[in-house]
Formats: sequence, structure tokens, C-alpha cells
Amino acid sequence: MTTPNMHYADLKDSYLFYNIAQKTKAYLEANPDKRLYRMGIGDVSLPLCSAVIKALHEAVDDQAVKENFHGYMPECGASFLREAIADYYAHKGVTVSADEVFVSSGASDELGDILDLFDTNSTALVIEPAYPAYVDANIMSGRKIVHLSSGEENGFLPSPDDSIKADILYICSPNNPTGAVFSRHQLQEWVDFANKNGSVILFDAAYEAFIEDETLPHSIFELKGARTCAIEICSLSKTAGFTGTRMGYTVIPKELERKGMNLNSMWVRNRTTKTNGVSYIIQKGGAAVFTAEGQRQIHENIKVYKNNAKVLMEALDKLGIWYTGGNNAPYIWLKCPNGMDSWEFFDYLLNEIQVVGTPGEGFGKCGEGYFRFSTFGSPEDTKEAARRLCELLK
Ligand code: PLP
Repeated sequence: MTTPNMHYADLKDSYLFYNIAQKTKAYLEANPDKRLYRMGIGDVSLPLCSAVIKALHEAVDDQAVKENFHGYMPECGASFLREAIADYYAHKGVTVSADEVFVSSGASDELGDILDLFDTNSTALVIEPAYPAYVDANIMSGRKIVHLSSGEENGFLPSPDDSIKADILYICSPNNPTGAVFSRHQLQEWVDFANKNGSVILFDAAYEAFIEDETLPHSIFELKGARTCAIEICSLSKTAGFTGTRMGYTVIPKELERKGMNLNSMWVRNRTTKTNGVSYIIQKGGAAVFTAEGQRQIHENIKVYKNNAKVLMEALDKLGIWYTGGNNAPYIWLKCPNGMDSWEFFDYLLNEIQVVGTPGEGFGKCGEGYFRFSTFGSPEDTKEAARRLCELLK
């Protein structure tokens, strides 16, 4: 009899978004006259910007003309896009060559696939609270996971220490769910730690475009020594509204080697085996994001989400509720008031003011007692949610 991958039996059911959906559905069934203010969503609400739409249309038209038609694309990405992304890094003062950039269908795909580069006996460190995919992708391939808790005492930005023994280190900054961002100094500690121990950092930079404090690092490659210990995984999902269009990119420096194996060459080998590349049309749309006009337009959209963050932060300031995030990230992570636990606070907001957020407990044990607001909703709903919050908790 075929033996399936038995590690799947070790996966815990993911109750978080299922429970939220069940609770909101039950509430609406019992209260059909009420409407909800959804501050829990991780999806964007604004459409693609016009520079991207124009490029997508042009690419579709190319596919109708024999001379312009594109079939299979290069597995690691079209050179026009790899070069545009390398240029984007250059503008941030980071030198990355086009053949260190790999175009992907999004960060989720990549966060799972990239584990092919590492032995299944290796150990992964996950800083909690965390984006749930890190843990699950490692369980599926049977890796050991070490959890590092973070909390208010370190602003949810823990430092490494010598008791940590791990081969793969997940770092997400700006963080989902906490919105906290590692400073240059803090991130340098992790880079030094990885180089000293021979570990590899998987740096999830899905929210780098939300950083407005220019003293904070957008890319791990801004740090000294990162080229010998880090892989950076990026996404256009939140940056440019590509959640449904699907595109991301990954940077693997050529200096990154372990035990005589070059990880950039290994990834070329992996991609040329396991994918036939991202579609021409999507890559053309993606390239438009990196033009001057594309950058201007996506930042107009990001500004809308950042204003939502300001509205929610003002409400929390007024109420004297502790929170982190919001300034340089699309998430706000707050302490549930009056000692409520995460789900208690969820029920309280749903029942009293019809505001839906995400209980922190769903992102790891140390998220208990905290709550996540996302800023991707509409400005109108965000304002009303903030008003209701102030009224309820004043
Ligand atoms: N990484 C983090 C931290 C995220 O929050 C998300 C999506 O919410 C992703 C990766 C996945 O991004 P993508 O849509 O590119 O798969």
C-alpha cells in the first residue's frame, strides 16, 4: 500500500480563520439587520493601479500577435523583470544582480518551495507570534521546529541568544501579525548570529513597502554580512494589490553557500525542474510596478492604508491601549483591554460594535491576550470602526 507523507498527520487544524468565519456567520444569522466592520482581513481592498492595468492589457494584446507572442517564459523570470527588480534594490542602495533575483508566483508559494534547499533533518526557528505558514510548511516536510516567543518586553522583536540551535531562521519584518519592524541594529544581531552559526535566514519582506521611517531596513541585504547568510522573499500582494494577480520575487545571493553547495545555483536547478515560470502577462504587469509611475501609483494606494492605520492608532492612543505596528506596517497589534483574552475580546467587539479583528492567540501561544487589526479595509469602515471602539471602551 502506498504510504502518504505521514507528516501531514502532525499538522494541527487551523482554527483561526475558520472560527472567525463561523462566529461572524452565526452573528449575522442571528442579527440580519446588522452590518460588520471587518478589520481582520489580510486581503487588499483597492484595485490594481492604472500603470499595471495598462501593462497587463498591452501584454494580452502581445499574445494575439505572432511577432510579439510569448510562450514558455524563462523559469527564473524574464530578464526585463529581473533587471527592473535589481534596479529597485539599487535605488535602496543595495547591490543585487539580476541573476540573484528569482520571479515567483507569490511569497506563500516561495516560502513553501524554498525548503527544498534544506535537509529534512534541519531545524527551523520560528519567532512567535508568526504567520502560520512557516510552521506548517516545516511540519509537512518533517522538520523540527524551535519556537522563540516574543512579547511586550522586547516590543515583539526578540534578539538571538546562544541557546538557540537552528539551521533555518524565519524573520518577518515588518511583521505579520505584530506590525513590529526590526531596527538595523537588531537585524544585524540576527545576521551576525546566522553567520557565526552557519544558519540561513529566510527573510520575509512582504511588507517592506510600508516602511516610512527611513532609518529602518527594507531589505536584509542592507546589513553587513547578509549576503553570506540570507534569502529574501518578497511579494507584490500588499505592495501593489497583487493578491489575486499573483507575483513575488526572491533574492538569493551568489555568495550563499553551505557545505560546498551554492544555494543560488541549487535554486536555478530547482526552478528549471519544478516550474515553467510565471506567465508573460503577469510579469509585464509586475514590471510596471517598478517604473517611476508605477511606484508613484502604488504609494498612493499604500497611503490610503496608512491613513487607516493612523485613524486606528489615534483611537487606541485616546483609549490608552498598548499597541505596536501601524507606523511602518499595515497591521496594528494591541493588548486586549481589561485583561480579556483574545477570543473574549473578539466576541466582545463582534457583539457590541460589530467590529471584526483577528485574535492574537491564532498566531502562537504568546499571542494570547493580544489582537490584530488590519488596515486594508475601506477608509469609511475604518473610521466607523475606530469611532465605535472609542465609544465602547472610553
Ligand atoms: N508573508 C507574509 C508575512 C504574509 O502576511 C503573506 C500574506 O498575507 C505572505 C507572505 C503571502 O504573500 P503572497 O500573497 O505573495 O503569497
